[in-house]
Amino acid sequence: MPKKKTPTPKSSNKPKFSQNDYKHPAAAWGAAFSVGRVLLEQREIVEGVEAVFKMNHEDGGFDCPGCAWPDDRKGLKMDICENGIKHVTWEMTKKRVGREFFFEHTVTELLEWSDFQLEDAGRLTEPMVYNPNTDKYDPINWEDAFSLIAKHLKALPSADAASFYTSGRLSNEATFLYQLFAREFGTNNLPDCSNMCHEASGRALMASIGTGKGTCDLNDWQNTDAIFVMGVNVATNAPRMLTALGDGVKERNMKIVHINPLIEVAATDAITPHEIMDMLLFRSTKTSSLNLQPRIGGDMAIMRGIAKYLLELAETDVAAIDKAFIDKYTAGFESYRDVCKSTSWDEIERQAGVPREEIFKAAAIYRSAPRCIISWCLGVTQHEFAVDTIREITNVLLLRANIGREGAGPCPIRGHSNVQGNRTCGIDHRPSEDWLARLDSACGIRSPREHGLDTVQTIEAMYKGDVGVFIGMGGNFASATPDTEYTFEALRRCGLTVHISTKLNRSHVVHGKEALILPCLGRTEFDQQSAGQQQITVEDSMSMVHLSKGMRAPASSSLKSECAIVSGIARATLPESKTPWEKYTGNYDSIRDKMAEALVGFENFNRRVRQPLGFRLAQPARELIFHTDTGRANFSCAPLHDALPPPGKLMMCTLRSHDQFNTTVYSGNDRYRGVKNLRTLLFMNEEDMQERNLKQFDFIDITSFAKDGTERTIKQFRVVKYNIPRGSAAGYMPECNALCPIGDYSAQSDQPLMKQVVIDVKPSQAT
Ligand code: SF4
Repeated sequence: MPKKKTPTPKSSNKPKFSQNDYKHPAAAWGAAFSVGRVLLEQREIVEGVEAVFKMNHEDGGFDCPGCAWPDDRKGLKMDICENGIKHVTWEMTKKRVGREFFFEHTVTELLEWSDFQLEDAGRLTEPMVYNPNTDKYDPINWEDAFSLIAKHLKALPSADAASFYTSGRLSNEATFLYQLFAREFGTNNLPDCSNMCHEASGRALMASIGTGKGTCDLNDWQNTDAIFVMGVNVATNAPRMLTALGDGVKERNMKIVHINPLIEVAATDAITPHEIMDMLLFRSTKTSSLNLQPRIGGDMAIMRGIAKYLLELAETDVAAIDKAFIDKYTAGFESYRDVCKSTSWDEIERQAGVPREEIFKAAAIYRSAPRCIISWCLGVTQHEFAVDTIREITNVLLLRANIGREGAGPCPIRGHSNVQGNRTCGIDHRPSEDWLARLDSACGIRSPREHGLDTVQTIEAMYKGDVGVFIGMGGNFASATPDTEYTFEALRRCGLTVHISTKLNRSHVVHGKEALILPCLGRTEFDQQSAGQQQITVEDSMSMVHLSKGMRAPASSSLKSECAIVSGIARATLPESKTPWEKYTGNYDSIRDKMAEALVGFENFNRRVRQPLGFRLAQPARELIFHTDTGRANFSCAPLHDALPPPGKLMMCTLRSHDQFNTTVYSGNDRYRGVKNLRTLLFMNEEDMQERNLKQFDFIDITSFAKDGTERTIKQFRVVKYNIPRGSAAGYMPECNALCPIGDYSAQSDQPLMKQVVIDVKPSQAT
């Protein structure tokens, strides 16, 4: 069979690693050179450049498979960023992983490859089934693959013994079909990546203002006077935000406050590459008015401090808070005022890890801004009391009526291109009765009413043997999740694991007793169906729903679209189903017509989504209509929680490098943090290092301490001195996920605590 030998990547000649502070603006020439290098490395000069001009464009363009930042409304020709190009060229690679590749490599051998080496092997080209006799994957045709899945699903003791996982890349149409199939099959086991990222945002905003989403759009970002950016590494995880930040400063002298234990590059200055004159003149724009570096978990205390400052100021400056708005639209103000009064400045400083004088500066910026947006990301959400922190953010916004008007409001920054659309279109393990009733009446099914399993619960159920079939739609479940060893074992205990993917990754080599890899079309590729070329839709962080259309030939003629794969599995599993799976696959307009029937806000979906830039889903809170238990925006009065690590311990957060998108690792570099060729590291405060007799790059063993008393240790990491507050430390995911205990998840959001891990660090014992 095999013609061309695929060399096993050499791990012997590891390139030298280093770390030096980065002294250049965000984006700028660094990003331009990086894009050039990526296009060269992936040997995609021509197609890569073509993609640059097609990406994020409403007239027949495709949506970047990266983060969920909205498309520019000013018709920017190059509405892209460096990382967007990485995501797209990574998908467009000419490297292929087909039967030849799998014939040469056992799964046991592939387990030794790094995450980078696995994905860099190339695009999957045909369905593969695991052969336990050879420990290799063999080719299988689609029908047999669907039959194998159907056989396992139908053999389960109950539908709840299967779990259907979604990663945030799945289109709205495939999302709708996937949840429809799971519910027609009989389960609400619909875990998704937002169970690990913004579940807290949804629950907090629902309680405070009666919606699970932010209320701002890009027009608000282009018409505000101040922006607070909390727990976001902008230049890496939402790079196009730099445009809004830079333009705001240049056009309106907008104020920007960054709140983050690490001062990331966007909290210094930036040059946005499409500003040619700025690039030629090396003329950067300062994208920060103030940086606050709280301890890990100190965000709520800072917000409480800002509120306390305003309430104290309001005794002499009546316009410090908007009492008329508060009286007309909110509930619980008096109790909140009292809890702020009873929270001492000493306690605020202690919990924030920031002196009150710095908090006063942030509060003064907030007070002097007629309109303000507060945005946040995983640095705020992946904590025990994130729901209370996000409700405190909303409290601060309500005090000055910063909601329901242009240039103001709460804005969670989503990290995956359609993670918000997944939840909107039905991926929810805790569905409301209202939604299920609408779905049943529109689709003629009877959905189960019992709530299903989220991501952590799915892992625990697989480990206990209660879930025997795991289906992963995109993503890299094995690497994205906490407690790596436990999760690996849980996946291996399944009777069948199925992954629908574009590229090889860790989840394909950590598999169940039987396993399938089903290759799907990429976002950049033509999706030809019986009714012609199809378009999909996605929903960005700001509730804009828009089209995406592939622009190039698929990586292989054997690939299927996500919609076709769901329909194939459904028809094989439910041969008597009255759901027109084949019709849906043939023409996605028919899926959208059904979605228009079932989903609130999608009326006339097919007509409205064909408008330039699509349409914005209605947001009642944006119109000051609050679907809360009080019918008003609710102040929350949570106590300030203890964010300090136990004495002698550190609080660790996991984070991503600049050369990484979620679990996809593009290299061992992290340009903006000055790191070269090193991922097994822990950023530590210099004094914390000295206290432990550690020098730069010493080998260390890191141990985490779970609430249940268990410990987890990873060894032979390198310590890297970094500007991070005392008592705080940071390491990369997925490498440090092994330290995140499966049982340590938030009682408020059920999110695993990926940024709140109690650790200790010791010099490595000589090996
Ligand atoms: S900002 Fe996000 S969506 Fe936009 S091009 Fe970059 S990665 Fe893609």
